[in-house]
This record gives sequence, structure tokens and C-alpha cells, in this order.
Amino acid sequence: MIKKKKAKENINRIQSLFIGLFVLLIANMIYLAGYKKEELIISPYNPRLTTLEEEVIRGKILGNNYEVLAETVELEDGITERIYPYGRIFSHIIGYTAQGKSGIESLANFDLIRTGEGIIGQIWNEFIGEKNKGNNVVTTLDPLLQEIAFEGLGNNKGAIVVLEPSTGKILALVSKPDFNPNEIEFLLAELNRGNTSETFLFNRATQGLYPPGSTFKVLTALHYIMENPDWEEFQYTCSGSDVFYDNTINCFNNTAHGIMGIREALAVSCNTTFAQLGTEIDLKDFKRFNENFMFNNRLPFPLPNSISKYQLDVNSNLESIPETVMGQGKTEITPLQNALITATIANGGIMMKPYLIDRIEDHNGKVIKKFMPEQHKRIINPNYAFLITELMAGVVTDGTGRSLNNLPFTVAGKTGTAEHRKDEKPHSLFIGFAPTDNPKIVVSIVVENAGTGTQAAVPIARRLLEAYFENQ
Ligand SMILES: [Zn+2]
Repeated sequence: MIKKKKAKENINRIQSLFIGLFVLLIANMIYLAGYKKEELIISPYNPRLTTLEEEVIRGKILGNNYEVLAETVELEDGITERIYPYGRIFSHIIGYTAQGKSGIESLANFDLIRTGEGIIGQIWNEFIGEKNKGNNVVTTLDPLLQEIAFEGLGNNKGAIVVLEPSTGKILALVSKPDFNPNEIEFLLAELNRGNTSETFLFNRATQGLYPPGSTFKVLTALHYIMENPDWEEFQYTCSGSDVFYDNTINCFNNTAHGIMGIREALAVSCNTTFAQLGTEIDLKDFKRFNENFMFNNRLPFPLPNSISKYQLDVNSNLESIPETVMGQGKTEITPLQNALITATIANGGIMMKPYLIDRIEDHNGKVIKKFMPEQHKRIINPNYAFLITELMAGVVTDGTGRSLNNLPFTVAGKTGTAEHRKDEKPHSLFIGFAPTDNPKIVVSIVVENAGTGTQAAVPIARRLLEAYFENQ
């Protein structure tokens, strides 16, 4: 009897031991699957990061209407492959994930390899040997506009940024030369062997520094208006060429534009009138004004970007004034920066922070994180924003942007023809937005060595704006 009781006690003890061990095991799995994994993912120095990436099927990157821009597919034997269905079209902005990462693949890396799978689901997946599904990243990008921008640049080098001025949402961002992210392993290997140059990885939209050309006249005119309440009285007679500070300034094709006010001079892009404005400008104030528009400042943008440069100040050589106020000289700007200046005007003087990710969803479509528009700062009064908008509308109704005048919506903008080397064709630029009374879309375009702004950049702007409003 006693022996039997003892044996029963032993069995009970062993049973408790097993239950205890089992509870510990489950607790450990929960700990590893949930809390600990999060901590491991967050540490950028963690050598296990790549292992964790292998345990999770990297999430999808989606367009603003759930178009698949990047996804991971499982081949046999658990081998996975990252696929980019749009190929070259989104190359720089979506980026790649290989040895190193770029674009949204880099920006959203932690979200893509985190899983929204519940603890039970994760334990179950571990039990049946399946990988957890990573979270999906829903971007602000519009594949239709991206495609039009991509086609618009054709075989030219250059960059295009399209954004929504009231929110800062980036709708399209293209840079050429580009690359096919589906071939990135091969391309990077070629790069290592020295068989190809690195320039195809360079994102001109955010990192390329260009002379702004006459698109800069918007800022010169705006500053003059803000400093001179009687700006409408200003008058200058253009004879096609004139000398300012020992520097001869010519209008395009030496055209004599005749009697010009600020409004007319911006519309036809009269160089001599702007050079005249340059003689009346306070250099210290103008530098401060441009820096307020984020020249010489890092942009509030999470991907690598260059600082646009404005260098003219009280110590500068006087000869450089006329060139600088008309967008030549030492001033350099990124297409993104030019888009933000334009968006600030379109948005009544408030610069919004540009952004690319609208929300993070788990694999079932449940929203995990939502990103809201954020104001960067107020740069000018709404009154001045409306005034300069009116003048930019004049560029389209009566000036160099006239080919945008017969559309079913109103457009405000400014062309630019930026001389950069004597032996090459100028860069073609355009900045603009539509409609003028309630702006929905901003474009900033640079086509390298393609001629005047009217020739190359304006037709691309037209296609982008048409496509945008046809699909509203
Ligand atoms: Zn002129």
C-alpha cells in the first residue's frame, strides 16, 4: 500500500515537472516570438538581423491604390526572391534590398521585416515550419503619374518630383539614369568589378544639384514684392541687352521685351528686368529670405538628399548679382527643393514635410501605423503666396508657359532654361501647380541638356497634370 502511494506521488511530481517545463517552454516562445524579437529587430548592430529577415517573409511595398511595387515570392526549398513588377519605373524611390539597401526598402526596412502575426499564429507557424508574413508598407506613390514622369524623361538624364502641396505627400519621384531593381545583384557585382559607373544609383531628384535657371525668378520677384509695397509702380524698358555691374545681360535670343513691370517680366522671363531688380535688392535680406525657403539647410526628408546652395551675400563680387537673381551664378538646387518651394506657394505659404509612407498594414490589411501630414513651417504670408500665384498664372496665360493655357483647369508656373556649360544645350526646367485657386498637385521637372523650359519640361508637365485631373 505504502509503496503504491509513494509511486503515485512520484507520478504526480513528474507530471507537475512536465507541466512546469511546458509552461516555461511556451513562455519562452512567447518571449522570443514577441517582445525579444522586436528588441532584436530594433538594434541596427544586431548580427541576427539577417537571420530574422530569413524568418519573416519581407512585406510588400504598395502604391497609393494597393498596386504591388515590391514583393517577396517563395520559390522551392524556402528560397525567396524580391520582385519589382514595375522594373525600372520606381528604381530610385523604391530602391533595393541586397548587399545594402536604398530608397523605401531602406527607409521602411524594420516595418517590412516585422510581423503583425499574433503570438499564437507565430507559434503555429514555427510549429508547421512556415515563415511569418511581414507588414506591408502603403506608400503615397501614384503609379500612373510615376509612369508618365518616367516616360516623359525618355532617354534624357534628369529628375521629376510630383507632390500634393496641402499634405506634402510625394506622388511621383523619378531620376534618370535609372536601373532595374530586379537585376540589382548583378548590377552591384558589375559595379564592384568596375564594369559600370555608380551614377545609375544616384538619385538626382533628391541629390542632384542644378542651376535653377529662371525658375528662381519666382523667388526674386516674390522678395521684391514683399519688400516694396509699391511694386506695381516698378517699370523698366528692355532693349534685349543691358549692362549691370560691368556684366552684360541678354534676354533670350536678344529679344527686346519693351516696357516691363514685375508681372510682365516674370511672364516672359525678361532677364534684363530681373538684373535691374538685382541692383535694388538688399543682399543680406535676400539671403535670409532664401534660407528661410530652406536653401543652405537640410530638408525635412528621410532619404539621402543634398543641401541646395545660395551663396550671394554682402561679400560677393557685385558682378555676380545680376546672374544670381535670374537663377544663374553659384546657386544650386535639388528638384525636390524646387518642388517644396513651389508647394509652399501653392499651400498659402506653409511648407509641409514631404513624405512617402502613408501607413503600415499587417498581412491582413489591418492598419498598424498611420502617418499624418506635418507642417514644417510657415514661410510667407498667405497674401504674398496668392500674389505670386497670380503672377505665376500670368506665365501660363501670357508667357513662356502658354502651351498649358488651353487645359480644363488653371495652371501657375515658371519655366527655366539653365545654362551650365558653354558647349552643351541648357537644362530645361519647369515648376508649377494646378488649379491656381485650390492647388492639388505640384510638379518640379529638370531635363538635362534638352533646351528651353518651354521645349522639354513644359510638355511633360502638361501630360502629368492632364493625367492627374482625368483620374480625379
Ligand atoms: Zn527682356
